[in-house]
Amino acid sequence: MCMIVGDPVKHSLSPIMHNSAYKELGIDDEFVFTAANVKSENIEDVIRAVRVMNIRGLTCTIPHKMEVMKYIDEIDPVAMKIGAVNTVVNDDGVLKGYNTDWLGTVIPLAMALDNDPATKFLEGKKVALIGAGGAARAMAFGVIEKGANLTIYNRTVQKAEKLAGELDRDAQVRSLDSISEVSDADIIINSTSIGMEGNEDSTPCDEKFFNEDQIVFDAVYIPYETRFLREARYSGAHIIHGIEMLLFQGIAQFEYYTGHKAPTDNMKASLFKHFNLPGK
Ligand code: NAP
Repeated sequence: MCMIVGDPVKHSLSPIMHNSAYKELGIDDEFVFTAANVKSENIEDVIRAVRVMNIRGLTCTIPHKMEVMKYIDEIDPVAMKIGAVNTVVNDDGVLKGYNTDWLGTVIPLAMALDNDPATKFLEGKKVALIGAGGAARAMAFGVIEKGANLTIYNRTVQKAEKLAGELDRDAQVRSLDSISEVSDADIIINSTSIGMEGNEDSTPCDEKFFNEDQIVFDAVYIPYETRFLREARYSGAHIIHGIEMLLFQGIAQFEYYTGHKAPTDNMKASLFKHFNLPGK
């Protein structure tokens, strides 16, 4: 059994994607993926339950990605560097934490640029990252790891400064008052919750700052296409939907949990079906 925990786990698409993949590989008698709402103060008890019930995998979402690190046995060096764990694997009672969100960032970017994600394919590229919360940590680590020149824009500048200070390479920090500067970026990423279901009319960046040479990536995946992405698409930019990030972090998780190569087409199709999108 694998499960996602969050507070709340609202509209989680992880069970849809993982259970579909188990079925495709015929391992659905061995694996099932479920979701549970867990308060922060109970995450230690959840870890105890993972050990007692021999739960194979734990996917951690808001707000547990940092707190869970206190209670597990080992942390992968990349997750340690990012400072967040979204994946816990139980190997015979030894609980090890990983972060796959950064792969969900770099793989779609490499695909958009027709590059190998294993290379420093962002060298010489200017990346503007809007936001400095949990998603931003993995996204910033990912683009820095691949050689980008990064500028972080955030409402709370001190949070962006803290994040920039924890990265291996220098990153610039700006307040949202300087957002017009993103017009010079090669890649613009929204890692804030602006534009999410419930505030679909909001966008972190005016459409006049987009152009057709840019790649514009939104971490938000509900709705499928945010106002931010829609306006970038109208401007001729290449857009990357948040669902791509969800898919590629989920593929890496699937492989950690099951030891099988992930059926990527099946996982992608399950997400597209959820949004009633034509199969891609
Ligand atoms: P978080 O830790 O709460 O961070 C929220 C960020 O949004 C902060 O930078 C915050 O700025 C900013 N923000 C929120 N409301 C704002 C507003 N009204 N004006 C300006 N800035 C605002 O959340 P998170 O975990 O990073 O998640 C952010 C989004 O990413 C969510 O939509 C989540 O679903 C999505 N996400 C997607 C994936 C995926 O696989 N696609 C993975 C993880 C997260 P301050 O610092 O000033 O508060």
